[in-house]
Amino acid sequence: MSKARTLAKDATVFGEKVTPLCTKCWRQQNTEGQLKIDERDREEQLLERCAQVGRGTASCTSPSSPMEANAFRVAGLILRSKFPDEASRLLAASQDYFDINPDELVETAEALRRSWVPGLPRFRDLLSVKLTQGAR
Ligand SMILES: [Zn+2]
Repeated sequence: MSKARTLAKDATVFGEKVTPLCTKCWRQQNTEGQLKIDERDREEQLLERCAQVGRGTASCTSPSSPMEANAFRVAGLILRSKFPDEASRLLAASQDYFDINPDELVETAEALRRSWVPGLPRFRDLLSVKLTQGAR
């Protein structure tokens, strides 16, 4: 994954300049309109993405936005005690992103305020359900 950094180009998302780890996934998410899909679809997409990265089944673990990177981080923190392996994969994926975009890391409270993650009890419950469903 660190090799992807050589491909990284600066890009703008939510008016902020960010450096994507993986330009392929970044383009997919950001030009196919992550803002066009409704909230419920976005939440489901985020949960599925977190579950795949957590299980190690995602084809690419690079967060494609500050929102996703912060969501991985929060997910990793709230899953740590119950799903330590999944949590460490999520935290590693978000850390790779923050290593090159340190300014994009926000406190959990700020991620909640920006609606980048569902409320924590709900987020934990939904992720736990996803992860106990087993590999798909
Ligand atoms: Zn990718």
